[in-house]
Amino acid sequence: MTQFATFRASSLYCVECRDAQPVQEKLVQVFPDKQIYEYLCVRCGGKVGNREVSLGSNFLEEETADPATTRIKIV
Ligand SMILES: [Zn+2]
Repeated sequence: MTQFATFRASSLYCVECRDAQPVQEKLVQVFPDKQIYEYLCVRCGGKVGNREVSLGSNFLEEETADPATTRIKIV
């Protein structure tokens, strides 16, 4: 429950560590309409997921008001 509230900022499951680990967010690609972030495990440095942020015409509003536009894909 609280896990989901802090999901984005704190930790993700890492297959290398076989446990949820704190992650670092790293901007890896920038497109005109979106940005791709990678989540890297702070313990082993492995990639544990990525995040695609859509930059619509009102992306600032989306970022703060509509979390549904942020999609996290666990790889
Ligand atoms: Zn790890």
